Amino acid sequence: MSRKSVNIIGAGQCGTLIAIMLARHDFNVDVYERFKDPRVQDAEAGRSINLALAARGLNALRQVGIDTLVKPLLVPMRGRMVHHQDGRSEFLRYGLQADEEIYSVTRLGLNRVLLGAADKLPNLSLNFEQNAIGFDAPDRTVHVRDETDGSLYQVEADPLFAADGAGSSIRRSFDGTDTFGGIETLLRHGYKELSIPAGPGGRYQLAPDALHIWPRGGFMLIALPNPGGDFTMTLFLPNVGDNSFETLNDESSVIAFFETHFADAAALIPTLCEDMLKNPLGTLGTVRCRHWHDRGNVLLLGDAAHAIVPFHGQGMNLAFEDCVLLDQLVTEHGDDWANIFARFEAEQLANANAIADMALDNYVEMRDTVRDPKFALRKALAFELEKRLSERFIPRYSMVMFHADIPYLVAQQRGEVQKALLEEFTADANSMDDIDISKAEVAVKKRLPPIDTIRSDLAVRRS
Ligand SMILES: Cc1cc2nc3c(=O)[nH]c(=O)nc-3n(C[C@H](O)[C@H](O)[C@H](O)COP(=O)(O)OP(=O)(O)OC[C@H]3O[C@@H](n4cnc5c(N)ncnc54)[C@H](O)[C@@H]3O)c2cc1C
Repeated sequence: MSRKSVNIIGAGQCGTLIAIMLARHDFNVDVYERFKDPRVQDAEAGRSINLALAARGLNALRQVGIDTLVKPLLVPMRGRMVHHQDGRSEFLRYGLQADEEIYSVTRLGLNRVLLGAADKLPNLSLNFEQNAIGFDAPDRTVHVRDETDGSLYQVEADPLFAADGAGSSIRRSFDGTDTFGGIETLLRHGYKELSIPAGPGGRYQLAPDALHIWPRGGFMLIALPNPGGDFTMTLFLPNVGDNSFETLNDESSVIAFFETHFADAAALIPTLCEDMLKNPLGTLGTVRCRHWHDRGNVLLLGDAAHAIVPFHGQGMNLAFEDCVLLDQLVTEHGDDWANIFARFEAEQLANANAIADMALDNYVEMRDTVRDPKFALRKALAFELEKRLSERFIPRYSMVMFHADIPYLVAQQRGEVQKALLEEFTADANSMDDIDISKAEVAVKKRLPPIDTIRSDLAVRRS
């Protein structure tokens, strides 16, 4: 019996992972990617862009057995190292449990592992330099240009998975219709990548087991470790106005800005001016849609469906979670695509909106709130409550990063209740000794149902 076919646009993290999963379900899978194969030619031009991988992403990689291949690429980060303006630094651990850590991984390294795993499947074909230039809804076809010779051809949407990233040409082909109702909202802040090289003997020049943050109120600098001893840094700053990218337009303005705000970090960046003046300015934004599918023909997924700002380190983790959910739905419903796409949207759209909101909140926390001494106190109280009542109280950050079985929407909703509680019990306190912890425990029991009831409710809903 001949296999059924599916087509995928985009061989990024999401497109490649869903391709592997669908090929394992025995579909014939064709993936169309506009760029060259990154295993042959690196589209990032040697820059080392890195991402934080957390429980949801690891869970997805485990499902297809490639977590072991990715493991050597990971650098564990146990917490945030906050670098204050006065030169002090303060380590704030991420989770209560020793194994609650997140992992820095280079985008290129991860994509290469995924593509290598995809290449091993005989019923999966990766087609590079094939650019999807638009979707023709009446004919249910995608127009594709072969960038090697300029020829044009069509690919059927029977069905089509659009994993072509935040600027998805498939999603934008539907602009002006009600099909997806996509809205792209740009942040007024952009980003630039800088780099701290490894020190003598390949040593890290900052603590390697932390995500470093230099919070400065309206803007911030961060650094994530790479396996080779270097760090990739990202400067997040308003695009225009005071202290903005617009004003950092020559060597003297760059040096003055870094000496004022990030003197300790600047001393570690030998190519500071070159990086700042030559590296591209990245844009940041959120994509929200009313719908993600066009009957059983087209499904948006990953950033194409729900790009989010990077401040919770969850865009890729969410994209991988999409793949896990789709994989489960295909196991349950085979190739009943209209049903699968509708169920996928019903389950995941509210979760994507929840993490989009939480990622925006986290920008304020990372660049500003983290400097407030009450931030550390609220965190200490949150860990104490988790220690005493772990079946009811798990800090919001931990629910998002370490608990793949707690949906983002649940983390957001419980997070709101917990935030109010933490603010209430730390309002007149300067240290944990000032807090009536038994009273706080009573309040938790009253306001938060046990988390297991939510997990089992979900299990019932999915069956
Ligand atoms: C600065 C920054 C930091 C981030 N940090 C984190 C982090 O720490 N943790 C985290 O989880 N997430 C992070 N993210 C988000 C993460 O990078 C994305 O969510 C993730 O890469 C989405 O994967 P995707 O496969 O959906 O899209 P993409 O990775 O964008 O892949 C889309 C693919 O489609 C291809 N494509 C596009 N258009 C076409 C076309 N017309 N025809 C054919 N192919 C096409 C592209 O070339 C690309 O290969 C960060 C993002 C940014 C910008």
